Amino acid sequence: MILLTFRDGDDLKLGVKTSRGVVDVAAAQAALGMDDGSVPESMDALIAGGDSARTALADLVARAEAAPAAEDWIRDEPTLTLGPAVPNPGKIICVGLNYRKHAEETGAAIPETPVLFSKFNNTVAAAHEDVPLTDAATQYDYEVELAVVMGKAARNVSRADALGTVFGYATANDLSARDLQTRTSQWILGKTMDKFMPIGPYLVTADDVPDPQTLPLRTWLNGEPRQDSNTDDMIFSVAEIIAYISRHFSLAPGDVIITGTPEGVILGMAEKTWMVPGDAVEVEVEGLGKLTNRMVAG
Ligand code: ZN
Repeated sequence: MILLTFRDGDDLKLGVKTSRGVVDVAAAQAALGMDDGSVPESMDALIAGGDSARTALADLVARAEAAPAAEDWIRDEPTLTLGPAVPNPGKIICVGLNYRKHAEETGAAIPETPVLFSKFNNTVAAAHEDVPLTDAATQYDYEVELAVVMGKAARNVSRADALGTVFGYATANDLSARDLQTRTSQWILGKTMDKFMPIGPYLVTADDVPDPQTLPLRTWLNGEPRQDSNTDDMIFSVAEIIAYISRHFSLAPGDVIITGTPEGVILGMAEKTWMVPGDAVEVEVEGLGKLTNRMVAG
């Protein structure tokens, strides 16, 4: 399933992208007489609800797709204001230097264990949401990344079982202020400024992503191609990352892991022209949707 959230007044509703348009889950289940509480009405409830919630939603979507055309609970996607694909993540864990050619472009050694850091949930932003760049930094950069959203608790999970704990995958942009990132040995200051992790437009369930290590991923800055790689260049695979993290601390449904960026960031260029207000950055992991955000003066 291809899931999204969209704004309806102060609410953030759950939608499912189908061949007929976006199914408004809450409206559809009321119209189809399925409002017995079994179908989750928010992305948070769906992720927390495990297999039974996902099965109930899949049943609803199958009935919605079979319903007569032009139902008012099927929405035209371009008319919707999307929310973040994961509006309320638990932990946000990031992997640094996880693509061979990116490690090389930054002059860093190839890591022998995953390099972990974090962002906080103030970084969450939606597709097409403006991102404020403040005067606290100047070296603003982009990073296309495959985001992994956990669906099951994981503690000491094996590499073989790791992908079975994943709820789904999304495109994310690990926006970074390099001058703050490198001010001290801890990267966090340059990584967790407000709205510095746009995520979406979709959250694609894991059953629709059979192999997360074969996904092309790209970035464009003001339409100019910047990053163009494939998740097959990862040093540590998604399964290895989950197994490694879960050996040291627990992962829970709703936790998000962003798995590193390939080469092509501004940091790796000989001539560094950092992003400024007015710039538009697009990132895409193929099959998960293209995520566009404009930088604005903050
Ligand atoms: Zn990153």
